[in-house]
Amino acid sequence: MSTVLWFQGGACSGNTISFLNADEPNVVDLITDFGMDLLWHPSLGMELGNNAQKLFHDCASGARPLDIFVFEGTVVQGPHGSGRYDMFAERPMKEWVTELAQAASVVVAIGDCASWGGIPAMAPNPSDSTGLQFHKRERGGFLGADFRTKSGLPVINVPGCPAHPDWITQILVALATGRAGDIALDELHRPQTFFKTFTQTGCTRVQFFEYKQSTTTFGEGTRTGCLFYEFGCRGPMTHSPCNRILWNRQSSKTRAGMPCSGCTEPEYPFFDLAPGTVFKTQKVSGVIPKEVPEGSDHLTYMAHAAAARIAAPQWSKEDMFVV
Ligand code: SF4
Ligand code: SF4
Repeated sequence: MSTVLWFQGGACSGNTISFLNADEPNVVDLITDFGMDLLWHPSLGMELGNNAQKLFHDCASGARPLDIFVFEGTVVQGPHGSGRYDMFAERPMKEWVTELAQAASVVVAIGDCASWGGIPAMAPNPSDSTGLQFHKRERGGFLGADFRTKSGLPVINVPGCPAHPDWITQILVALATGRAGDIALDELHRPQTFFKTFTQTGCTRVQFFEYKQSTTTFGEGTRTGCLFYEFGCRGPMTHSPCNRILWNRQSSKTRAGMPCSGCTEPEYPFFDLAPGTVFKTQKVSGVIPKEVPEGSDHLTYMAHAAAARIAAPQWSKEDMFVV
């Protein structure tokens, strides 16, 4: 059995809700069949008050061995570095994080906030929030760029707003069954098994993307066009498996007709907090997308787009819906 302690910092609980929605395996399966000894979780922990505090202190001191420390939410450092905006079990949460991260064999950041600060860390960041080992794309965060657990691992980041239930459970299963060494991480410490591909990988609109045909409406499944050209879809530059590992085993944002807003990248929510920018492709000179698919450049993209539009077959301009 691997012991797991899950704490919540500056968070909306979205990742907890996602975790509780897991179904293959579900949370009970994780405990009964996959060797997870869940010592405590904000929604599932059995211990209260002094008993809970004793458990936390025992984990921090090493009296109770801690294998996996899961953190959801930002590390709140304000006001003035005291961390007292986020008190937990009679101390600033940031003090618990320091001790538990040192005591655990593996530390996992679940969701954008824990990975790199997420929405709370956007300017002006009044709570002085940051991620465990990144502040946005910059290495460091609360624990520092050189932080390694006692088993020699950096913080494993499972970003998303929230992270998909399967991303959380599959990583926890791998860790609980002693396969931490098999998890290849990218430069942002994300497991590559989930985050090497793009949201666009497996999107049902990709044939429209190829022929540069835009949809004209939100929703409506995949009846017409791609969401990149007008509706701000970040699918071609966002690393996620959202069209490979479907949400509720059914669908994804782009399949349902809503643009990917890039929630697995450190810059999320990008410019979307500025008025009038949400779900709108940002353009240069009114026509050229400000950001082009990862790995491309504006010149190559424009040449390719012009040729693709000329080559676009009639079907790519039609409504695909048939009764
Ligand atoms: S809707 Fe988004 S993810 Fe799908 S093909 Fe278009 S740009 Fe790519
Ligand atoms: S489709 Fe994009 S915004 Fe939606 S969950 Fe996936 S990565 Fe996040």
